[in-house]
Amino acid sequence: MEKAIVATDLTYRYGNLTAVDHISFEVEAGEILGFLGPNGAGKTTTFKMLVGLLKPMEGTATVLGMDVTHEIKKIQRHIGVCFEYTNLYEEISALENLKLFAQLHGVSDIDLYGLLEKVGLGGKEKDRVATYSKGMKQRLMIARALVNRPKVLFLDEPTSGLDPVSAEDIRSIILEEKKRGVTVFLTTHDMHEADKLSDHVAFINQGKIVALDTPHNLKQQYGKRKVRALVERGDTTEEVEIELDKQDTPERVFELFKNERVVTMHTQEATLEDIFIQITGRGLA
Ligand code: ATP
Repeated sequence: MEKAIVATDLTYRYGNLTAVDHISFEVEAGEILGFLGPNGAGKTTTFKMLVGLLKPMEGTATVLGMDVTHEIKKIQRHIGVCFEYTNLYEEISALENLKLFAQLHGVSDIDLYGLLEKVGLGGKEKDRVATYSKGMKQRLMIARALVNRPKVLFLDEPTSGLDPVSAEDIRSIILEEKKRGVTVFLTTHDMHEADKLSDHVAFINQGKIVALDTPHNLKQQYGKRKVRALVERGDTTEEVEIELDKQDTPERVFELFKNERVVTMHTQEATLEDIFIQITGRGLA
């Protein structure tokens, strides 16, 4: 399959701090790569190198086969970028924001009303962006990233700090774009988001990729399955966890039912955060 993004030994330093430390990864065309890590892990710095805002200090990266250092102008015609912080013209309308951006890209045949409708801003096209909520601004950022019908979408924490409805809507739009064949590079510190959207997840910690695989394989390889029971003890209920796939699992489950009043019981797969903690010794928050 064709590679949409290839990074090889990509490195960036701020003074003495190596924010991104020789990372290598590939994203197949049409895939979503979730770049998952806590604050300060190096996600945004990687993102900026891939979209041409920072020049790699070592290593190389290509997007759609073009080099990010030497061919960024060409790359930028084919990518959509959505930054972590909104950078919109607040004093004009959403529609005018998109018109300006379309002009900049030489795009004249896109239905901007349709695009705003798609991101849930139908009816609000002519309102000043300054009057928009954070969720609405983020929807507009996504619409703007789609104006030039990109082949690759770069999204830096697109749902961070949003209300649950807006966050879920944005996730649906990302999945819709993937269905149309768009490749997505998505940074996030939300394990549920990474799990739900990504074909592959890269765990990034202290500037390094410490694991990269499908969510399923990561869980298979590192995850411990558990059964979690709620038992009644006196006037309260307490949670009891039993690890599955161990020699004494059947006995422990049997003992639990024999000795306690079990209110509820369910099995639980390891989460990506459990696995992240297992690999790095720290959580995502
Ligand atoms: P966040 O989610 O907080 O943006 P991140 O994973 O995107 O985290 P980066 O923003 O890439 O991480 O930061 C990686 C490291 O580089 C952090 O230690 C951060 O403090 C440092 N850093 C980022 N930008 C700068 C800068 N302009 N000058 C100095 N250090 C920086």
